[in-house]
Amino acid sequence: MEFRQIKFLKHLWSRKRHVYLDYNATTNVSGRVRRTMNHVLKHNYGNPSALYGMARKSAEVLEAARQRVAAAIHADAQEIYFTGCATESNNAVLKSLSDHFYPKKKKIISLPIEHPSVLNTLEYLQTRGIVVDYSPVDSQGRALLDELEKRIDGDTFLVCCMLANNEIGTIQDIRAVSAIAGRHGVLVLSDCVQALGKIPIDVHDWGIDYASFSAHKLYGPKGVGALYVKQGSPFAPLLHGGHQESNMRAGTEGIHNIAGFGAACLDVDELLAHEEQVRALKERLIRQLREIAPDCVVNSPAAGGLANTISVTFPNESHAGLMAFLDDHGIAVSAASACSAQEDKPSHVLKAIGRTDQAARETIRISLGCATSTRDIRCTVKTFRDFFRNRTAFITTITPAQLDKAALFDEQNYILDVRPQFQRRFLPSLPNSHEISFAAIEKHLLRLPKDKPIVVVCQNGHLSAVVAYYLKSMGFGSVGSLSGGVSGWKKRHDDLYQKYAGKNVVALKAEK
Ligand code: PLP
Repeated sequence: MEFRQIKFLKHLWSRKRHVYLDYNATTNVSGRVRRTMNHVLKHNYGNPSALYGMARKSAEVLEAARQRVAAAIHADAQEIYFTGCATESNNAVLKSLSDHFYPKKKKIISLPIEHPSVLNTLEYLQTRGIVVDYSPVDSQGRALLDELEKRIDGDTFLVCCMLANNEIGTIQDIRAVSAIAGRHGVLVLSDCVQALGKIPIDVHDWGIDYASFSAHKLYGPKGVGALYVKQGSPFAPLLHGGHQESNMRAGTEGIHNIAGFGAACLDVDELLAHEEQVRALKERLIRQLREIAPDCVVNSPAAGGLANTISVTFPNESHAGLMAFLDDHGIAVSAASACSAQEDKPSHVLKAIGRTDQAARETIRISLGCATSTRDIRCTVKTFRDFFRNRTAFITTITPAQLDKAALFDEQNYILDVRPQFQRRFLPSLPNSHEISFAAIEKHLLRLPKDKPIVVVCQNGHLSAVVAYYLKSMGFGSVGSLSGGVSGWKKRHDDLYQKYAGKNVVALKAEK
């Protein structure tokens, strides 16, 4: 490897001190979970529905996990069904109850800040005749209980009220919501995904009828969720097939994932005990962000929200640029939520609490976890400080909307596609691109124009930001990174992409 290449790799390496602050998107798997899953994968591969000893052992593992999940939320084990994810749990309740009640009753009341796994399912159900009424929230995301009660009528069969919001961390008074619904004979579904392990959960005491959970937000594996159905509440399976999960969810159980979920639940008390430390780190971070950017606006509730979640708006600072800078320095945060990070749409949660589209595009979500350390916060604060002190050294983030036809065909712009070759086979480059492999960027430095704006492009906008920062550090004047990359651009300009992709593309040859 040549010296120049080594320099570039060193640049990448020096940037990669990882600070993970996106625990609401997903968590790492804990040591206990990993050990449990490894053991189950090795020893308990029998199908729990079969009749021999090995299968009975798997069935025992399954039931032990069910007990553990039930204990963590104060339910009975027979009220817990394992699913593939919380999205499935939410879908199963919403679709099953709509089938059960429609057409006698047609109305569901929901908060406008629910997760897309609820909102998009409701949107689908509206096409089948279900009426959805969104009950407003206040500026901190709390349900307005009087408004909610006013909306309940004889046509209403369900209230959807998430326990803790994934973007801003608001915690709802679910006991009060459940009491209101109960007075009117209406059922309650609560999406508790972000709450488990962060606040104590007691589904029996609260009187809710359905609740959804996901292991991967609790240091468990991805690909397994749980659904709580209060005994006696109506429910019909979403999937039909075998008799697994007491006929409520067909499909051979992912026993290692389920065991991992159970193991994660064993740590819930310890996680809850750690929450005050997490809150102290969060408050310290907020204080320091306010010192660095006094005009920043914290959207998360001032008191009583999740201990780990900060939603913060930096006026006049596009979140794409800030996130690229943080990413370049190894710090992982989200825009509004990880699920919508690929879309160029302002967050529905921020809009529901009264923020403008522009403010929503200037907002990032920082979510701490049990492993977040004082050093992580120090490193994050330093990076924010560098960003706000020294803006001129930064790259521009170019959205797919900004890179329109005129900009793309403007000879003044130099489009630099840094994707590996195999990605170009599936998604040809944008027209007029100059293709190089990112690992060979050092070799091409002398061939890149210093007098033109360079737009660096990759598959989805991450690698390009890293290369753009590198070019900036090498003295290139105007360097931008296309947010969302070629795939984001294609989504936005599919007609242009179909017509022009791969046209007039130059493959740069390295200097000898
Ligand atoms: N509900 C909330 C509040 C979430 O934050 C998420 C994940 O981001 C989900 C539901 C979906 O969970 P899963 O990834 O298990 O489908």
